[in-house]
Amino acid sequence: MILGVLKEAEPERRVSVLPEHVKKLMDLGYSEVWIENNAGEASFQADSNYSDAGAIVKSRKDILAGAQVILSIQTPKESEISPEKILITQMNPLSNPETAQVFAKKGVSVFSMDMVPRTTKAQAMDVLSSMATSAGYKAVLQAALHLPKFFPMFMTAAGTIIPAKVLILGAGVAGLQAISTAKRLGGVVEAFDVRAAAKEEVLSLGAKFVEVEGATDDTSAGGYAVEQTEEYKQRQAALIQEHAIKSDVIICTAQIPGRKAPLLIQEETLHKMKPGSVVVDLAASTGGNCAGTKNNETVVVNGVSIIGDSNLASSIPLDSSKMYGKNLINFFKEIIADGTINFDFENEIIHHTCVSHAGSIISPRVLDKFSSVTS
Ligand code: NAD
Repeated sequence: MILGVLKEAEPERRVSVLPEHVKKLMDLGYSEVWIENNAGEASFQADSNYSDAGAIVKSRKDILAGAQVILSIQTPKESEISPEKILITQMNPLSNPETAQVFAKKGVSVFSMDMVPRTTKAQAMDVLSSMATSAGYKAVLQAALHLPKFFPMFMTAAGTIIPAKVLILGAGVAGLQAISTAKRLGGVVEAFDVRAAAKEEVLSLGAKFVEVEGATDDTSAGGYAVEQTEEYKQRQAALIQEHAIKSDVIICTAQIPGRKAPLLIQEETLHKMKPGSVVVDLAASTGGNCAGTKNNETVVVNGVSIIGDSNLASSIPLDSSKMYGKNLINFFKEIIADGTINFDFENEIIHHTCVSHAGSIISPRVLDKFSSVTS
């Protein structure tokens, strides 16, 4: 079984496999690992590093024609992938069900790494958590670079500088990493989330928890947040506004899989915020948590800089690729049996992660998405 690794299209800088992963992949059952020319360039990995590690450097055309299993973080064009191939990517099928359908109809077997279930066993394969770790960290650094003041408190001969006030919206993986990073930089941090479980985690990191009573918390949602009532949203908007107008930095990370991101910073709030403050919106690709957010752009509203970027993991390409590749290796340990990919849908991890196989959609959450669209 030959594994082919594609080069990502710019501006993506990550690569799904680093040279350090090659031997481990071969030990798991791949006879050869083929890597597209310059695939690791943006992560500072030369083709020669891959060859030294035992991979074979090839053209994209050769990989697409000859490899049975194809890896790419961003989903390649459907026209590039032939039927019968196994594509392992990050398709985000809950937001792109039509793409999933196109690949299924073509007879491509697709595993989407963002569909790995949130079970203890699957944690080591969870690329969403790994990439959220990178994004939460980098979001705070981006904010610090844009902010016209210091993060920490300074007591100097020229007077005392008060620390930056940081508000984190959404205390999942990215939010918790943002809290840790902002604390390390010396900011005064508070955070808000709809899930009750988040409170303890926020407090354990030394941040304050902003609490809105009456959230709908559905433990059957597999660790994810669910849509809230209108009445709750109004109370939430008022409380967030109260905290936002005192903040220097707001990091937005709140998301609901397959849905538009909740709008947490209204236009009115932006106009009451301090000029010079910074919002980093990691939910930008699904509409953003902030009224002024534009995906992949930095805009200024009332002197407030709003950085819309849902792919900050790509801006730390080396360590993000390192984690992504390790997640893949752990996933392959689960799905390779007797030197081949095992489509064992009795296995929860394989069942949930497999978007399409033999012409059909497989993942239960993607199937649910189709039934909610058609009903
Ligand atoms: P996510 O990216 O889907 O969402 C980010 C955060 O936004 C979540 O904490 C969510 O509750 C919050 N949010 C959504 N709507 C909101 C709103 N209206 N207002 C405020 N906050 C809102 O989630 P995530 O970061 O990937 O993870 C969420 C949870 O799942 C975490 O507790 C995490 O530890 C857990 N998790 C478990 C596993 C596992 O067990 N394998 C893996 C990953 C994450």
